[in-house]
Amino acid sequence: MMKCSKSQIIERSHARMRLLAQALVDKDNEDHKLMGDLAYELNDVLHYQCISEPHSTILKTSRYYHLNFTMKTKGDDDSECVTGDIFFVEIKLMEGEYEEMAVTRFCMVKPNDNGHCYGCTNNGSAGLKHPNNSYAYLGGHVN
Ligand SMILES: [Zn+2]
Repeated sequence: MMKCSKSQIIERSHARMRLLAQALVDKDNEDHKLMGDLAYELNDVLHYQCISEPHSTILKTSRYYHLNFTMKTKGDDDSECVTGDIFFVEIKLMEGEYEEMAVTRFCMVKPNDNGHCYGCTNNGSAGLKHPNNSYAYLGGHVN
């Protein structure tokens, strides 16, 4: 298991993760044509983990982010009313001249979901919740 370098971890600070998560939420609103008070916005990033693991077939390292966050609707701003739903996102980092990201999973995790992930557990993010179906995400299966 290769860990992300310290500088990468600092660079990917909580603030950057919030921006990233907000961009994902905006994209989801667009996909579902949610606007105005119905549109979601990021509430809080609960956990995030950068994972590097050897590719199973070729001599390459695959890098992923796993994130948990909560959302609220814009109409809820006054009431502080937040849905308790936790979302799981997996982002695959594409190697190249420019760093590109691909969202490989964006879904809600149920309170009793507890999918196993070596990447998060081995890097100290055991609290990060994954979907029960471990085939639903690409990273985290290499110990
Ligand atoms: Zn994970």
